[in-house]
Amino acid sequence: MPCREPLRQRASICNQTVHGFHAPAVPSSDCDSMAGDTIFGQMLRGEIPCDEVYRDERCLAFRDIQPQAPVHVLVIPRKPLESLRAADSTDSELLGHLLLVAARVAKQEGLDDFRTVINSGLEAGQTVFHLHVHVIGGRPLAWPPG
Ligand code: 5GP
Repeated sequence: MPCREPLRQRASICNQTVHGFHAPAVPSSDCDSMAGDTIFGQMLRGEIPCDEVYRDERCLAFRDIQPQAPVHVLVIPRKPLESLRAADSTDSELLGHLLLVAARVAKQEGLDDFRTVINSGLEAGQTVFHLHVHVIGGRPLAWPPG
């Protein structure tokens, strides 16, 4: 399945500046580079840089460009799932892996307490339509979210 993202969102996201290092390239078949691609797909292919904190054969983790806390990392699958709602039973292992990597990254960042968030869909606050797990911590976090 190709990466999908509404064009109006792609326009605003692609205007942002990114910092840090180049992500590892992945085969183009893993994340289509044609229309509907996302900025995260471009990071996965190493076409634009990101501030990488972890990578393996199934996912990449990098710092959010607009951190909402002292630690704010995004964990994304190399598989271009547009959101959690697009996942099915064949993705069970991958989804578990993403959560384990989220915990690993939190520990790596020195966090005992942290929050993981997955926004699915516009009304839930999703702005980049490539599945990602937010890992947020380093300050007290209020609940419920807005
Ligand atoms: P969402 O709102 O879709 O749950 O989260 C998308 C996240 O991606 C936001 O927190 C936003 O700051 C982050 N983001 C958007 N564009 C970029 C980018 O170019 N680089 C990085 N590192 N993060 C980005």
